[in-house]
Amino acid sequence: MDFLIGLPSGLEGLLGLLAALVASYLLLAWVTSVLWTFRDARARTPHVAAQAIGVALVALIPLLGITLYLILRPGETLQQAYDRDLEQQTLLAELQAVPACPGCQRAVRDEFTACPYCRTTLKEPCSSCGHQLAQAWRHCPYCATTRAPERAGARRAFGAARATRPLTDASEREQGEAGVPEAALRGSASREPPPQ
Ligand SMILES: [Zn+2]
Ligand SMILES: [Zn+2]
Repeated sequence: MDFLIGLPSGLEGLLGLLAALVASYLLLAWVTSVLWTFRDARARTPHVAAQAIGVALVALIPLLGITLYLILRPGETLQQAYDRDLEQQTLLAELQAVPACPGCQRAVRDEFTACPYCRTTLKEPCSSCGHQLAQAWRHCPYCATTRAPERAGARRAFGAARATRPLTDASEREQGEAGVPEAALRGSASREPPPQ
């Protein structure tokens, strides 16, 4: 501060005030960054040692420390990790959910071809390759055959179940007849394996 001695007292006081303002601004920024780092680290890791390292980094190396902390900190907060975990578990539970009969809503097993309670048709064999296909599927995933919506064999085999089939049946039939030529429908019906 030797160079300030020769200056007029008014200017000296002004510079002193300016220096104090800059110093208090830097101090405030430093304290704020340390507090922010403490809260951020606590939200991102449950380990006290890791939290302490993060805070020390920011406290001991002003300006550069916070950049390093932003690079090194865990990518997501504990809340975000928890939410993501919950979302995955919900998805998994939905995938593993017990299938229900569309006719009576009772739980049925995935391999059942008809409901054991109300005889609603749950699956029908593919007309081409014989794999069991869920009612909602429009195409066979094993041989890519487009399913004929109305088949005589299926009607005979599951005759009693027709009444309890879902209401979407009529719209499916219209869609199928519009999309598939009549000859193809007859052809796939003649190649149909015997009903099970
Ligand atoms: Zn049922
Ligand atoms: Zn098939």
